[in-house]
Amino acid sequence: MSTFLAERHDGFDLVVVGGGLAGLGAALAAARGGVRTALVHNRPVLGGCSSSEIRVPPAGAGYHTPFAMETGIVYELVLADRARNHDPVEGGLANSVWDLTLYEAVRAEPNLSLFLDTQITEAEVAGGRLVAVSGCQAGSETRWRLAGRLFVDATGDGAVGAAAGLPFRIGQEAQGEYGERFAPAAGWSHTLGNSLHFRARDTGRPAPFAPPSWAARFESCLPHRPHRQFAGGYWWIELGWPRDTVRDNELLRDELLAQVLGVWDHIKNHCPDTREAARNWALDWVGMVPGRRESRRFVGAHVLTQEDIDAGGRFADTVGFGGWEIDDHTKEGMREVAKKPSFEGVNHWLYFVRPFGVPLRSLYSPAVPNLLFAGRCLSASRLAFNSLRVMLTLGALGQAAGETAVLCLRDGTVPGELPPARIRDLQQRLLERDVFLPGFRNQDPADLAREAVATASSEAPFGGEPDASGGSLAAPSAQLIPVGPGGLIRTRMFLESRATESRTVMVRLVAAAEVWDLPALEAGGSAAESECRIEAGTADWVDVVWDRPDLPAGLYWLCLAGEGVVWRHTAAMTPGCPAARFANGRWWFHPGPFGLWRTFAATVFPDPRAYGAEQALTGVTRPGTSMNLWRSAPALGLPASIELAWDGEREVAGVQVVFDTDLSRVNRVMPPFFRAPECVRDYRIEVWAENGWRTVWTERGNYQRRRVHAWSPVRTPRLRLVAEATNGIPEARLYEIRVYAVSQQN
Ligand SMILES: Cc1cc2nc3c(=O)[nH]c(=O)nc-3n(C[C@H](O)[C@H](O)[C@H](O)COP(=O)(O)OP(=O)(O)OC[C@H]3O[C@@H](n4cnc5c(N)ncnc54)[C@H](O)[C@@H]3O)c2cc1C
Repeated sequence: MSTFLAERHDGFDLVVVGGGLAGLGAALAAARGGVRTALVHNRPVLGGCSSSEIRVPPAGAGYHTPFAMETGIVYELVLADRARNHDPVEGGLANSVWDLTLYEAVRAEPNLSLFLDTQITEAEVAGGRLVAVSGCQAGSETRWRLAGRLFVDATGDGAVGAAAGLPFRIGQEAQGEYGERFAPAAGWSHTLGNSLHFRARDTGRPAPFAPPSWAARFESCLPHRPHRQFAGGYWWIELGWPRDTVRDNELLRDELLAQVLGVWDHIKNHCPDTREAARNWALDWVGMVPGRRESRRFVGAHVLTQEDIDAGGRFADTVGFGGWEIDDHTKEGMREVAKKPSFEGVNHWLYFVRPFGVPLRSLYSPAVPNLLFAGRCLSASRLAFNSLRVMLTLGALGQAAGETAVLCLRDGTVPGELPPARIRDLQQRLLERDVFLPGFRNQDPADLAREAVATASSEAPFGGEPDASGGSLAAPSAQLIPVGPGGLIRTRMFLESRATESRTVMVRLVAAAEVWDLPALEAGGSAAESECRIEAGTADWVDVVWDRPDLPAGLYWLCLAGEGVVWRHTAAMTPGCPAARFANGRWWFHPGPFGLWRTFAATVFPDPRAYGAEQALTGVTRPGTSMNLWRSAPALGLPASIELAWDGEREVAGVQVVFDTDLSRVNRVMPPFFRAPECVRDYRIEVWAENGWRTVWTERGNYQRRRVHAWSPVRTPRLRLVAEATNGIPEARLYEIRVYAVSQQN
């Protein structure tokens, strides 16, 4: 006997299992691409580890490298949440506004059917292909069989692929296996642990806390585990080994709960650093669904390795990218609180992970060819997985899986059989939808903007005004500067002396291939060298004359070193121009990870025209080998416009624009009710008609980076975007404008 209904059947073109950010990326991309899609998720709220049930803040490549934030659907969701959420982004603080943002995005798609509370337990394979998945929907007491032509396993644990018989790995590979330089001589089978988060609230009056008898006890210090900020957390309340993170989930939950309450007891009743400050604070929420970091990883058509990361991941079938550090933890977690929770064997802090490409082949296996993987179960060695396993990265790779499904379903094929030309179409589709692929640019033949000449009402000069903060040049420091076709005659830096006598500052120029070229600094050579003297007690612009009109145009690091001197920051980050600093044996983006990047104050003569109108037509929508960004002159204010002109008339029916939202600012530093001040808010699109400009689109209140607009086709020789207002700054910024003869929504 069973209370469950007899099995109900439904059929889809694509069935995505797992509603974390990877699954959401896949399902939304496919549904927007016209695919009849099911999203099946075993929890009542979407978001996986990021949901209000678990509360891990989504992170990505941008946390270690400026301008490396993942874009596309996952970024659109982040911006939508930040614009209306009243809480900050921190461990333990995620709330229902985030859950609802994700839910509303799903509800907005008519092609997307949502099955919440549905645990998929079985996979039906026939003729080597997955034909259906089945499972139980708890609340409705219904057993579902969901048939599909293609599937995406976004369960994190690889539950669907494992049930379908796909080969998978658990644990660390030995060095002999892939030859990875950080791999240990002998592998192991344990994994990163699970965690529970908590959230606390200031009640405004004393809030005593008495732990239950079964809580862990931490009466003395918890070194290596920072807990002075106790509004929510902590990633380091982690337990795995010697247990299995999947099979022992219930046991680990109980053990983790004992740890959370023990840590809270420490904060409230024992820790001399927090006891007083936490007097009025009470636990407001404690997680009961353990967040899981690691379990199965599929062995796909390609296993991404650390060697691939080192080589920059330049694959012909790149469909996404990663850039988080190689982030391993100790196996003991809270079982050994005297040890640091991060694994020092990998020594990842000494290793810069330059954003690297991820190939389509890591998202499927020939063993079950109509199943894509998205999320942490994708095909990577454990070292590479440790760089990929953050949610913004996985969300963008999920979108790649969804867009792959769109093309496969149109062609009636599977990912492994997409010919090279179709993979190039897929890459163009991803770029069009603002998914970043390192080394790739827009080559869409339908984009009429590529045939146009761009001009603008004004262009911003390079440079920015200094503020009061800076970085000491006791450690060599560098600022990325653009050099234009006129070469380099002079640079000017704002330097402050903190010495009692005059000092010499050594100055070098190092050619950089792109904005992320820290390796050029590591290599140690220089294109030119000079020095300057700084008088005691001064704070002023200091010139260095290079007199090099022949210096090839491009990007350069301007490197300074000198005791007793501080290089002042600019008040606002200069778009596309990170700074770097040498510390602990290597170069780092300045002033350090987690997205509060700064620019050192420097200007360049002659002005390099780094932000000209043509930068909006380079086909790349973030800083790369150039700024790829049009900026109007801030001194002239708004409105400002960028215009495209053709050598004759074109029929135009729509535009796609990518505005600047400052990709050096990560979501964790976006405050509640945030709208990127750089983002163009009010604008209109105009076409040239016989008697002047005619408005074909007007937009108000925008805060998103990518916008798509369509109208009835008109013939015109010129089109322009007029930026009337932004969400804060007095200049217009645009990474890309595409123009199409027909609407490109799908
Ligand atoms: C405590 C902790 C701290 C972390 N810190 C960070 C951080 O700061 N930033 C960051 O970005 N990442 C962090 N991570 C890693 C990150 O959260 C995970 O790697 C990421 O969530 C994996 O994404 P995913 O979409 O693959 O899986 P998930 O987010 O786990 O989503 C998969 C979803 O599928 C559902 N599911 C599973 N099996 C089934 C099934 N059979 N049927 C239906 N549904 C199913 C699950 O309930 C789950 O919600 C942390 C992880 C933990 C646990």
